[in-house]
Amino acid sequence: AKTAGRNCHKYFEPKMNSWSKQRLEISSRLRKAISDNEFTIHYQPLLCLKTNKVVGGEALIRWFNKEEGITPPDRFIPLSEENGLIVRIGDQVTEMVFATVVRWSLYWEEEFRIALNISARELQEANFVDRLTQQIKKYSVKKSAIEIEVTERLLLDNRTQSVKNLLKLSSLGIRLSLDDFGTGYSSLSYLQKYPFSTLKLDRSFLKLVPHNEKSAALSSSIIHLAHSLGFEVIAEGVETQEQYEFLKAEGCDIAQGYFIAKPMSVEEFENWMDQCGG
Ligand code: C2E
Ligand code: CA
Ligand code: CA
Ligand code: CA
Repeated sequence: AKTAGRNCHKYFEPKMNSWSKQRLEISSRLRKAISDNEFTIHYQPLLCLKTNKVVGGEALIRWFNKEEGITPPDRFIPLSEENGLIVRIGDQVTEMVFATVVRWSLYWEEEFRIALNISARELQEANFVDRLTQQIKKYSVKKSAIEIEVTERLLLDNRTQSVKNLLKLSSLGIRLSLDDFGTGYSSLSYLQKYPFSTLKLDRSFLKLVPHNEKSAALSSSIIHLAHSLGFEVIAEGVETQEQYEFLKAEGCDIAQGYFIAKPMSVEEFENWMDQCGG
């Protein structure tokens, strides 16, 4: 095994070098992106399956740079979590989202909310809630208009600071949503332990729905279980009419996905709302 290990090491070395070189490059580009304000936010509608009305949206970061074009979040969010830049990126995201939420609040119905994605790393910061509260005050955002999405991956390490922050957020009246539910780390005990109000069923569940019986049974069981525990359920990655009908029939609360609309710029979202918002 030792020899194999050595061989493997040699074999993988060149690749690792180019990988880490690439990461270094992205890291320095990220620093520049933060100071040059290269991030924007796209919004994807959340559709209530009972009323067929849009009840809000999820804010998703977009990084555009003239030379490099668009870099998708999956290529820089995990990295910025590792090198800590996510804290500054998250601040910028929050500022941009709050500025938009305040403007939109003038037109919305009571229940409208915008969901923000927060990384594990951000939630581990001792002053996370204080900083967020300051931003809320600065923009006079209604707390009921924001929802915070955290992935269940995050809860795995069970850091006391993260747990404290979740409890603080919930006691402030900010809704918490458990993202990517069912992606392999899930534990139903999270739902009992932490103050979530919403569960986001990961899109991997819906992939085979409704044609695969087991996938369908699994999805509907999770919806019913979540409801019996008092959680709201949002299904992610709804791409087809069939999935939409299935979710509606199963009593799922909210649908999000390409079947309804892709994530859109502020302007696109506003136009789309005028035409399809219900
Ligand atoms: P997520 O939170 O699970 O976000 C949903 C992802 O699914 C988005 O990818 C969205 O564009 C995509 N999506 C929506 N509908 C469909 C569909 O019908 N089919 C398929 N195949 N995909 C769909 P996106 O925007 O590339 O974001 C990827 C991930 O990056 C997000 O996953 C989230 O974990 C992270 N992320 C995005 N924005 C932020 C942010 O502002 N802060 C942090 N910390 N993470 C973010
Ligand atoms: Ca999310
Ligand atoms: Ca998700
Ligand atoms: Ca995800």
